[in-house]
Amino acid sequence: MGKRIMIALGGNAIKQPDELGTTEEQMKNVATACGQIAEISRQGFEIIITHGNGPQVGNLAIQQEQAQELVPAQPLVILGSMTQGQIGYMMQQSLRNLMGEESIEVVTVVTQVLVDRDDPDFTDPHKPVGPFYKEEEAIQLKIEKGWTIRKVRPNGDRQWRRVVPSPVPLKIVEGKAVRKMVDAGMIVIASGGGGIPVILNEEGKLEGVDAVIDKDRAGEILAEDVGAGIFLILTDVDSVKLDYGKPTEKPIQRMTVEKARTYAREGHFLPGSMGPKVEACITFIEHGGERAIITSLAKAVNALEGKAGTTITRN
Ligand code: ADP
Ligand code: MG
Repeated sequence: MGKRIMIALGGNAIKQPDELGTTEEQMKNVATACGQIAEISRQGFEIIITHGNGPQVGNLAIQQEQAQELVPAQPLVILGSMTQGQIGYMMQQSLRNLMGEESIEVVTVVTQVLVDRDDPDFTDPHKPVGPFYKEEEAIQLKIEKGWTIRKVRPNGDRQWRRVVPSPVPLKIVEGKAVRKMVDAGMIVIASGGGGIPVILNEEGKLEGVDAVIDKDRAGEILAEDVGAGIFLILTDVDSVKLDYGKPTEKPIQRMTVEKARTYAREGHFLPGSMGPKVEACITFIEHGGERAIITSLAKAVNALEGKAGTTITRN
């Protein structure tokens, strides 16, 4: 069990905030991430990968909007499935180019994730997506497009953003298929962007919904499905901090589930970013995982050896 690892890659690992998001830029970033993953694979770990898609899905949404006079705009749920293919392709190729000789098969699974159609976030959405707007612009978009908008910054010129529902993931529809592939020795990329959100409709059939599932929460469920012993979350900070952003800020090297809960209650981990990551780690350990690690992409290999990052364990 200890040699099976679920890796969750942050969206920023693939398109950094200061970049345009050209294919060349994204390929280069993917190659950096895959360099770390290839090294982990060489150490004998069985690997399952999930990833964010925020920047990619945001860019695709702009393309839909700008071109809708020519071709029909696709809904968010379709854009989510498109980014799974896009990022999966880049990673499959990059990993293959890095590990060709070692002949590990790498596959991407287009993944649906079941959510409750009565999830409260459908009527009271919370996940900010896309650009920041001025109040007048935001109100205009609300009227024109029927978006839900929210003030997400306490000050500044552009405080408003579109928000979409972020329902709790209940089940990975292709979870068993992913497990079979991992058991067969493949590196599997799945549940990208948190997965394609689907509900069971009135006839009991799967149906896509416009929402964004948190990739760390969905990744945790997938980690359980494949029986991973380690959950490695790679983001843009080297470790989890106490008093984040304050002069007293301090990195956490190790914490037990109990400590993590206490710190969470004390408000050290912000909602919508570090909060869901720590929460996902706690759930993972409570449901039988051995250890969970949060660190930056560059420190992945070191963190796995316990030399960097934040490690969360039962005791
Ligand atoms: P990802 O795309 O990897 O999911 P997020 O932006 O969602 O990245 O989460 C990482 C961010 O969490 C960091 O860049 C940091 O700004 C923020 N953060 C919030 N609380 C903390 C904390 N206690 N320690 C470290 N980072 C924190
Ligand atoms: Mg995030």
